[in-house]
Amino acid sequence: EEADRVFNFAAGPANLPLNVLKKSQSELVNWRGSGMSVMEMSHRGKEFKSIIEKAEADLRTLLGIPENYAVLFLQGGATTQFAAIPLNLCKPDDPVDYLVTGSWGDKAFKEAPKYCKPKVIWSGKSEKYTNIPAFDTLNQNPDAKYLHICANETIHGVEFKDYPTPRNATGILIADMSSNFCSKPVDVSKFGIIYAGAQKNIAPSGVTVVIIRKDLIGNAQEITPVMLEYKIHADNNSLYNTPPCWPIYISGLVFEDLLEQGGLAEVEKKNKRKGELLYNAIDESKGFYRCPVEKSVRSLMNVPFTLEKSDLEAEFIKEAAKEKMVQLKGHRSVGGMRASIYNAMPLAGVEKLVAFMKDFQARHA
Ligand code: PLP
Repeated sequence: EEADRVFNFAAGPANLPLNVLKKSQSELVNWRGSGMSVMEMSHRGKEFKSIIEKAEADLRTLLGIPENYAVLFLQGGATTQFAAIPLNLCKPDDPVDYLVTGSWGDKAFKEAPKYCKPKVIWSGKSEKYTNIPAFDTLNQNPDAKYLHICANETIHGVEFKDYPTPRNATGILIADMSSNFCSKPVDVSKFGIIYAGAQKNIAPSGVTVVIIRKDLIGNAQEITPVMLEYKIHADNNSLYNTPPCWPIYISGLVFEDLLEQGGLAEVEKKNKRKGELLYNAIDESKGFYRCPVEKSVRSLMNVPFTLEKSDLEAEFIKEAAKEKMVQLKGHRSVGGMRASIYNAMPLAGVEKLVAFMKDFQARHA
C-alpha cells in the first residue's frame, strides 16, 4: 500500500512525513503501554500531559521560542485567529494596520472591523498579488495597535523573506504563518504573535498554534468568547476545555522528526533546493511555463504557475495525476497550476514533477 502512495501537491491538508504516519500507526491502538489510543485518553491524564508538554518543549527548541512567549494549542483554525487577535489586543476604537499581499491577508483584514478599526496600508490586489512593497515606503499609522502580515500567501505564492519593522506605538508585528510554519528558522522575538493552522506543515487539521508574547495576554474585550480568550488558554496550558488531542500528538511527532533532521536551518536548506529546482524549470522553459510572482518574494512552499497555452492546463493536470502527482490544480480564484511543496514533500517528488514538466513541454511545444 505504501507503493501506491502519490506525490500530493495539495495546499492543505497536505502530506505528512511517512515515518510519522508509520510511528502513529504503530502506536495507534496502544500508545506506549498505556493500553489506549491517544484518541481515547483523558486530556487531563498523565499520558496526554506528557504528550502536549513534549510537543511544546520540542517546538520551543525548534524555533528558539523565548521564555517570555506562551505557546498555545487551539481549535478553530487560523481563521478563528482573524477574530481572536483584534478581540484580545484592541478596544473597539483602536486603529490597526494590515499589509495585504494575498487572499489570506485580505480575509484577516475583513474580519477585523467587527472588533477594531483596521486599515489596509498596502495591498497587492491591483497587481494580482505578485509582490511585496519596499518596507520603507509603507505608510504605517503610529497609533496602530499592531501591524498584521501573512508571512506566506498560500494561494498566490508570495512569501516574506524578511519582515517590516512595526512603526506603531506598541511595536507589535503579527504574522499568519499557516503555510510556512516550521519551514525555516524565524526570529520569534520580532513578533508579538505568530499563528498557524497545522494542516500544511505539522499535523492534520484541527489544531492551531499561537505563539504570543506574554505581556499581550490579558486585555481582551469584554465580549470575547471564552474560547477565543488567550488568557484562559494560557492560564490552563491549552487544557481549558478538551483540546484537539490527536493533531497535537501528531504535531509532536513532526516536531521530533524536524529536530532529528537537524532543526529548521537544515529543513530550510532542503526546501530551498526543492524550490530552486521547480522555479528554475519554470524560468528555463522559454515561456512555456510562467510564474507571475516577483522573483525575490517567491514562496518556497506554494508555487503557482500557468501554461502559455492555457488550453493545455487541464491536460497537464490530468496526465500528472495519472503519474501519481495529484492536486496540482491552481486555486479557483487564480486558475492555472499550483504545486505545494511543504516540508514533507520529498525532493524525489519535485524531481519527478520537473521531469514530467520537461516531457510535457517536449510533447506540446
Ligand atoms: N491563513 C493561511 C495562510 C492559509 O493558507 C489558510 C488555509 O489554507 C488559512 C489562514 C485558514 O486556515 P484554517 O482553514 O485553519 O482556518
